[in-house]
Amino acid sequence: MDFFAVTLPKLEKYFESIGENKAKAKAMYRRIYKENVSALDKLGFTAKLTKRLEADFLLPAFEIEEQLEQPEACKLLFRLSDGNKIETVLMKHQYGSGLCISSQVGCNMGCAFCASGRLKKVRDLTAGEMILQIVTARRLFGNITHIVVMGIGEPFDNFSNLTDALEIMNCPFGLEYGPRHITVSTCGLVPKIKELAAMPHLCNLAISLHAPDNRTRGQLMPVNGAYGVEELVGAAAEFSALHKKKITFEYILLKGINDSLEHAVKLCGLLEGVRCYVNLIPYNETDNSPFKRTDEAQMMAFYDVLKKRKMCVTIRREFGGDINAACGQLRAARLEG
Ligand code: SAH
Repeated sequence: MDFFAVTLPKLEKYFESIGENKAKAKAMYRRIYKENVSALDKLGFTAKLTKRLEADFLLPAFEIEEQLEQPEACKLLFRLSDGNKIETVLMKHQYGSGLCISSQVGCNMGCAFCASGRLKKVRDLTAGEMILQIVTARRLFGNITHIVVMGIGEPFDNFSNLTDALEIMNCPFGLEYGPRHITVSTCGLVPKIKELAAMPHLCNLAISLHAPDNRTRGQLMPVNGAYGVEELVGAAAEFSALHKKKITFEYILLKGINDSLEHAVKLCGLLEGVRCYVNLIPYNETDNSPFKRTDEAQMMAFYDVLKKRKMCVTIRREFGGDINAACGQLRAARLEG
């Protein structure tokens, strides 16, 4: 078993199944996640138990293929045990560091503007591979205050591994992030939003909305053919009501596509009554992309429409553009270029 994929209740069951006190599970979690022990023979267990653990568990490490530093961001390219590569981005904020982790190798959602999505999904990441991105980054950079599942992949297309990973991230005996410090972003798989809403509170929810009507959104995001904007916003509102949390709606501004003031007014109408933030995202013009970034003046005009209608709106700071680590650029530059 990959230790990093095992939730605490499962680990407790394991210890019981081999005739040991289940309290050893918490001790093992603490040593590995809090004290950064990276070998099974350094856990302080008896020789006999250590041998057993070594037979049953792997404590894998990623090979770091590349590490690109910038003052405000650092991109890590990890090589997985099967040779696939994934990217993880550290974002350095004034108030602490956030880590953007990937959930799949590639992505099948096919959003027209996204460079990552041009590379089809190769496979899902295991819960262990999601957790190991965090563990490795903490070893390299020390404390990381926030986790965002917004790297490559559609997390809700890998739902059970995602929810296991969230449980491990939240566990007070381990990484101990707590739901307020974790955000998962989805392109809008409505049934999974509802499933997550019905579970105990695991994370904040961000929705990649990018358009306020089905015609515009349908041109950008194939997923809109399955779940339209009203249904999507309805599911988000349900999550918000059940967990008493604001939802973040992400909105990339694309020149001439979704950035008119009519779009802005429509967006306000669509989100009326939903407790939310709107995060306007300057588009990263990736190679081979037909889309262009909305200019500054139009972006501010769009922002003002939302502000006047009392929406909570922010414009996203950009991270990692110089090192191909910005949204939608991950991996693509390397594989296509
Ligand atoms: N599949 C998930 C998470 C990964 S994408 C989702 O769709 O939310 C993370 C965010 O980056 C999404 O909001 C996505 O729409 C956005 N994004 C993709 N390409 C981008 C680009 N070139 N510039 C800016 N944001 C982009």
